[in-house]
Amino acid sequence: MTRSPLHWRGLRVPFITPWSAEAPGEPPIVPRRWGGPGIGYQDEHHTDRRDDVLWLRVPVAPGRGTPHFAGVHALRQRQAMDRDLCQVCGGPTVGDRPDGRLLFLMHSTSGRPVSEGELSAAPPVHEACAREAVQECPHLRRGWTAALVKHTPAWGVAGILYEPRTLRPRPTSSADSDGLDLVPYEDDARLRWVLAARRVVALHGVEEVALSALVGAAEQRFSPGCAGISSGPSGQ
Ligand SMILES: [Zn+2]
Repeated sequence: MTRSPLHWRGLRVPFITPWSAEAPGEPPIVPRRWGGPGIGYQDEHHTDRRDDVLWLRVPVAPGRGTPHFAGVHALRQRQAMDRDLCQVCGGPTVGDRPDGRLLFLMHSTSGRPVSEGELSAAPPVHEACAREAVQECPHLRRGWTAALVKHTPAWGVAGILYEPRTLRPRPTSSADSDGLDLVPYEDDARLRWVLAARRVVALHGVEEVALSALVGAAEQRFSPGCAGISSGPSGQ
């Protein structure tokens, strides 16, 4: 399966980049009506939850309006994580390498390599797409780290935690670079109060990839944001 790349003003727009026609709605958050305490939507539909966790509602209209390069589309990010789709082109990454490993690429200015068990909200990426990204994405030009990964078990979600008493968003505590809280699937108490916006996986069987192995000729110009690639939480 190959998706047609979207462009805007001559720039290729990454798969998980949201467009202006895809701004999240703001349905009221209400107490959950069934299944114990927690948050829900007034007009909740079964598609609003995954693994019993409430997800941010986002329209799906890629290519309509203007791209918001600093953002991440919650649904496409989740699809990319669940199906191992490339965050840049949206195509399947399974089979991209003969050894079956997946490539993960993250913004990093510390020079620290990806560590075993590190969390990522950034979906995998094709090697060819990564080569373009490290040359054309300004975020990544400031520093990046990449790793080949054997296993990517689902770890939890990144989202907005709500205060049970007031049903208002709480100040973030374990916030990643998007200002979202990280909540593991094993933490049922907090999962009930989070509005999820990203699927987060753990990276296992990690092997750092040398810069020279990725940097090559790039033909496509990339967006000035490439935020999807730089949005992964870098700690646990
Ligand atoms: Zn790709």
